Amino acid sequence: MSNIDAFEEQLKDLGVPTGMDVERFKQKIIEKKNENSDTRFLKLPYGKTVIRILPPYNKNRIGQYSEEYLQHKMGDDYIVCSRKSGESIKKCPICMLATNFYNSQDKNENQISKMIYAHKRYYLNVVVKEYVDVDWEKSRMEEPKKEEWENKVFILDAPVSIVKIIEKFIIENGDVTNVLSGKDFVINKKNKTYDNGSVFVTYEESQFKTEPSYLANSPELIKAILSSQYDLEKILQDKRKNFNELTNFAMGHFNDIGNFRVSETLKQLISGEPVIHTKQYAGQQVNTTGNVKGTVTQTQTQNTSSSSNQQQGPQATELEDDLSFDEFTNEMEDEIDNL
Ligand SMILES: [Zn+2]
Repeated sequence: MSNIDAFEEQLKDLGVPTGMDVERFKQKIIEKKNENSDTRFLKLPYGKTVIRILPPYNKNRIGQYSEEYLQHKMGDDYIVCSRKSGESIKKCPICMLATNFYNSQDKNENQISKMIYAHKRYYLNVVVKEYVDVDWEKSRMEEPKKEEWENKVFILDAPVSIVKIIEKFIIENGDVTNVLSGKDFVINKKNKTYDNGSVFVTYEESQFKTEPSYLANSPELIKAILSSQYDLEKILQDKRKNFNELTNFAMGHFNDIGNFRVSETLKQLISGEPVIHTKQYAGQQVNTTGNVKGTVTQTQTQNTSSSSNQQQGPQATELEDDLSFDEFTNEMEDEIDNL
């Protein structure tokens, strides 16, 4: 080993980063650029964006107007999880890491777990009806010309908080996507200051209009809009990185911030070294939140292929997701909203 290598090793042990990874830097710039120029996605400004949610894009999917996915936030990056909701955490290295850290006795690791956990999000096909009381400057957006958005289909990348409002309304009031009798949805994006002084985005004042309306003013326009809906499942498939890509991404991220120990743990987890404490995990949950989750744990060991329990409760493999939600969703979901 040359002197400089030995020196670098020592610095690494001390958790000191020694420079920048230029290849990763280039890659990041390209990805950011692509993201910002992806005009398929609706960017929500501060204020009210009146949208219409389109009916299911695929005729075989009755009632399914949205596509659910899991997302990780790492630093400034938002990444589509490599597993689908309900699939085993072993399909995603970041989920493996988050679950492991969630069980850790180490406070820092608990903190990292909260930051990188997979959050549910949804893609929806929508059109914009109008913008009301929008602060474009605060939104750091240029006001788009009407011809750029009118009757154009966008993908709304929505957090749980928005989808909860939508689903509650559909259950109580019926189909909001009907092209003749549906209702427009007013997304109200605001900042909210919490007691501890931190400021987060909130959509809690979003609501449906009370009066129904047409999707568009002519049958031809309605036909044109419906035929230009996105295949949301396909778009998610294209965005979803595979296990190895996510591993490299996560290693890069933690090395970037000088947290080499996390990269090491991740390596151990992937190689199957015994760092997961699933038993302890399940046990803790039973103790703190009652026996509901204990029951799920049992189903996990006995029967992982049953689909009949879908309505009664979470599927066995969704255990980790549900735990994450009970623990984190209320407190975290506004925090990760970044539309
Ligand atoms: Zn994941």
